[in-house]
Amino acid sequence: MRELVVLGTASQAPTRHRNQNGYLLRWDGAGLLFDPGEGTQRQMLLAGVSGHEVDRICVTHFHGDRLPRCSGRGSAAVAGPRATAGGRPLPGLRDGVLPGLRYAASFHEVAALREEPVEREGPVATGPFGTLEARRLDHRIETFGYRLVEPDGRRMLPDELARLGIAGPDVGRLQREGVLRHRGRQVSLEQVSEPRPGQRFAFVMDTRLCDGVYALADRADLLVIESTL
Ligand SMILES: [Zn+2]
Repeated sequence: MRELVVLGTASQAPTRHRNQNGYLLRWDGAGLLFDPGEGTQRQMLLAGVSGHEVDRICVTHFHGDRLPRCSGRGSAAVAGPRATAGGRPLPGLRDGVLPGLRYAASFHEVAALREEPVEREGPVATGPFGTLEARRLDHRIETFGYRLVEPDGRRMLPDELARLGIAGPDVGRLQREGVLRHRGRQVSLEQVSEPRPGQRFAFVMDTRLCDGVYALADRADLLVIESTL
């Protein structure tokens, strides 16, 4: 299943009906949480999202309306800017903000968070979802947008499979090996499938218009873009 659960869109200040930022992307078995502002855990509860669904937290920048409150359970990788600008260190991952948030209060730590500072444009992570990439945006502090790029694949054609009598484990074997010896004849993957372009999701926040915006939006199936500047 693939869906975007919008947990909040109110940026700096929540309203009676909108929470601060927070977006969960469900991508098959993976859960990517973007810019989880204050109150995200409660929004997740209201939306029926379990903390265990979150594998990865992606923070575009360390303004206060998109900071993760990480006192939950489970484990996740946290990507965000290391945050230096012109040699001047700014708060970011491993530079104080995240540890400061996590350890601002005393609690029994059960969440295993793995910090992955984003220092340059390019791939941040790869997985069954494809590639997660970062591009620099133009905001007051170091800011990265993200996009998830699924590689192109092939869609099996059930009618063709049925016509040739291919079923069960043979389908998987054909997908893995590209050819199948079946009922005395050779069947190729191309015969029973068609090209399926990979899907793309892009996330762009708080930026002036810049090259990174265009690069992230390029051929996106779903683009989340917001700025209250
Ligand atoms: Zn901002």
